[in-house]
Amino acid sequence: MTVSEQRLQEALSQLKQSGVRITPQRHAVLEYLMQTMEHPTADDIYKALESKFPNMSVATVYNNLRVFQEIGLVRELTYGDSSSRFDCNTTKHYHIICDSCGKIVDFHYPTLDEVEQLAEQVTGFDVTHHRMEVYGKCEDCQASLQTSH
Ligand SMILES: [Zn+2]
Ligand SMILES: [Zn+2]
Repeated sequence: MTVSEQRLQEALSQLKQSGVRITPQRHAVLEYLMQTMEHPTADDIYKALESKFPNMSVATVYNNLRVFQEIGLVRELTYGDSSSRFDCNTTKHYHIICDSCGKIVDFHYPTLDEVEQLAEQVTGFDVTHHRMEVYGKCEDCQASLQTSH
């Protein structure tokens, strides 16, 4: 069993424990999320699965994502007006984002707990979490930039 298969099995049993019915579409959305290292939008997921499930709509994908989110299987990453990305890596990690193609890649760095503590002290907020994003050009975009010159 591969790592992503194992994670899928774990996610499925978590759904079962939460009393969520596993429909073929729900299974497919979850499987797609567990296999991709990208951070897809609901639209990306819809496009990837629409040939398999012609009756499925983007709204169905969204509904499934909400269910997964409530159980803690995915995290939603919102970016102002542009559509949310969904991340099934629920361990603590940071993101680096490509300015050119929008690709989001995970990387690990010790959690910046001090920032949260300091923010709490300075502002009196009850801090729940923080988000840090690093921006740049991914290797693919660097390469295509070089060949176009
Ligand atoms: Zn890129
Ligand atoms: Zn991520």
